[in-house]
Amino acid sequence: MQFTDQFRDNRLAQALLAEIRRTVTRPWVLMEICGGQTHAIMQYGLDQLLPPEIELVHGPGCPVCVTSLQLIDKALAIAAQPDVLFTSFGDMLRVPGSQGDLFSIRAQGGQVKVVYSPLDAVRIAQENPDKQVVFFAIGFETTAPPNVASVLQAQALGLKNYSLLVSHVRVPPAMHTILGSPHNRVQGFLAAGHVCAVMGYWEYPPIAEQYRVPITVTGFEPIDLLQGILLTVRQLEAGTWEVQNGYKRVVTYEGNRAAQAMIDKVFQPCDRNWRGIGMIPMSGWELRETYADFDAERRFDVGQIQTRESEVCIAGQILQGMKKPAECPAFGSLCTPRNPLGAPMVSSEGACSAYYRYAGAQA
Ligand code: SF4
Repeated sequence: MQFTDQFRDNRLAQALLAEIRRTVTRPWVLMEICGGQTHAIMQYGLDQLLPPEIELVHGPGCPVCVTSLQLIDKALAIAAQPDVLFTSFGDMLRVPGSQGDLFSIRAQGGQVKVVYSPLDAVRIAQENPDKQVVFFAIGFETTAPPNVASVLQAQALGLKNYSLLVSHVRVPPAMHTILGSPHNRVQGFLAAGHVCAVMGYWEYPPIAEQYRVPITVTGFEPIDLLQGILLTVRQLEAGTWEVQNGYKRVVTYEGNRAAQAMIDKVFQPCDRNWRGIGMIPMSGWELRETYADFDAERRFDVGQIQTRESEVCIAGQILQGMKKPAECPAFGSLCTPRNPLGAPMVSSEGACSAYYRYAGAQA
């Protein structure tokens, strides 16, 4: 495929690996932010091809994984209501809440529909005026523009039966949390290319400067990832901490200003609870007061939600790069994709599912 094959070229990959081997002189720990990058690393076995000095740890960039248990439980409570048609991306249906998941709500008669875009949910709201249609708006900066667009479209159509259950999170505050932790092991970041396609990378230089960590904006193909690793390791070896763009075919410093303006019109920053990690100040987005009518949390009284996490799941430590999936005692035994105990085993971007799928249950 044009634009893809050239970034999977074996000879180029070998040349980059050789250059990485020539460059590295001592151990370094790098974190790829995005779960999509984690899956590509595992799928192509890049972690096995790198010199042993380079350890890759896996970041929190899996939106399904970091959506708080409390919000999942709110989704279950809303979806169970008789006049509600609850819409979501497919990944969220199997994420375990305190008691069941959205699939179990559907099995009990709840109307839960998988959609491929929030604009599909708006269409469903148009077609079902007697139902309250809720879209589960999870994700990082990448999915914010379509979610915001759905609110603007619903407003333009005069829909009174459409709302978002919002769980948006942002990358830069999570990087602060990881780097500021006394347990931090991360010495360099591969920033998520698609997030930067929307937001640019103007937010990252102060982070690189404050913690003295090099950051490389990195794509998702094997050549992108190896190039991101090489650029980051070169900086680590040289003792520099700049932000570099290794994904120039997609990302600019400013990002998509029109998308950023649209997000800013509808969303405002808020504190956000990350599953397994906890509260990170100003790490999320919520609907502005002017769009409160589209806020499902205000529209539905879901009462007091008491959450109960699995006691064995160490997802929080994995998402902060402190542990690897195979170090979880439940990995591949109590916790499998068929019977997930935590979200990273469910999501197509989850690190546990990547290890299970590509490295096997005995990883
Ligand atoms: S293997 Fe399962 S229980 Fe362990 S951290 Fe991953 S999701 Fe949680």
